[in-house]
Amino acid sequence: MAELTNLLDLEPAGLVRWCGELGEKPFRAKQLQRWIHQFGESDFDAMTDLAKSLREKLKTHATVAAPAVISDHTSSDGTRKWLLDVGNGNAVETVFIPEENRGTLCVSTQAGCAVNCRFCSTGKQGFSRNLSVAEIIGQLWLAERLLRRAKGVPAGPKGERQITNVVMMGMGEPLLNYEPTVAALKMMLDDNAYGLSRRRVTVSTSGVVPMIDKLSGDCAVALAVSLHASNDPLRDELVPLNRKYPLKELLAACKRYLAFAPRDFITFEYCMLDGVNDSPDQARELVQLVKGKVPCKINLIPFNPFPASGLLRSPRERVTAFADVLLQAGIVTTVRKTRGDDIDAACGQLAGEVQDRTNAPQRMTRAPVHVHRPSRPSH
Ligand code: SAH
Ligand code: SF4
Repeated sequence: MAELTNLLDLEPAGLVRWCGELGEKPFRAKQLQRWIHQFGESDFDAMTDLAKSLREKLKTHATVAAPAVISDHTSSDGTRKWLLDVGNGNAVETVFIPEENRGTLCVSTQAGCAVNCRFCSTGKQGFSRNLSVAEIIGQLWLAERLLRRAKGVPAGPKGERQITNVVMMGMGEPLLNYEPTVAALKMMLDDNAYGLSRRRVTVSTSGVVPMIDKLSGDCAVALAVSLHASNDPLRDELVPLNRKYPLKELLAACKRYLAFAPRDFITFEYCMLDGVNDSPDQARELVQLVKGKVPCKINLIPFNPFPASGLLRSPRERVTAFADVLLQAGIVTTVRKTRGDDIDAACGQLAGEVQDRTNAPQRMTRAPVHVHRPSRPSH
């Protein structure tokens, strides 16, 4: 039998094309898409308004397969974390963060990451591989389905949506896995799938300048940029990609993006590292860097230490003092709250058994690898 097509891999236009190849009209693709993404259905026999002949065709040509769940934990604060198997010893994490009037899903785009930021445990793992479209959108598909099931919310467009916001802030650099990321974004926005507005979907990037520009044309969702430093020498050290795309170019790209963005600001993420990037002088330098240049919000993230990093979290007073400098300069600033600590779901605390591809000495212990997840996004 021919290999089955995983329908989670097909973005809306691709599903129309694929249905066309089966001799089906475009509206069938829409129906199918609604069954899969709105009802969370994977059993073709349950898709009752599709002709029986089509259902039979689907059974021999297609499947709806999200990554398998390795573990599923819920924190006392309601944060829920899934470890997902993406094959060959690779696992990625997805985290749901419930808040009073929204539910945010933090999704991964790669197993590991090649950018290798100093403070990031995903980076320390090295790069394993890019996730496929099905593995990215499958995180949303699966999480919505499981969350509804847990609450007894009916499937389908009338059932109350549990996930109202998506942030691509899990493992990996989304803009270095560009095509699958954009295909997944398109499904998130499509009315026959998740129907999320562009402002409720955020891509977080360490600053892949050409891809920021490309994203503005292909799928301009909200943008978060991981800044972490107020000058090039420091950023070169913390985010090695800065050597390729230095701050001037990065900020220019942010500015260009704003002409297309659904929000009129960029969110800058800034991970607070004790004695490294958290002084009042550095806060003032940060003000100089962005003020009057890029309309922005700054989100200060308390660093979640992991053993191999050799770095420490900035003390609370230092974070507050840093935030005060920014606020006094008129820059909207938030300090991200840590959620899900009791299930190791806070930033930098996630642990997945991810195959080591780096041979880095600190990984030779074969201890569980820590990956990060930012908690409570500011959007
Ligand atoms: N690769 C993208 C998206 C994933 S990282 C990016 O870098 O933007 C998402 C965020 O998690 C980044 O802003 C990063 O600063 C943060 N992060 C990484 N490791 C962390 C840690 N140990 N503690 C706190 N935040 C961390
Ligand atoms: Fe990659 Fe983002 Fe981690 Fe940097 S912070 S290593 S870009 S996942």
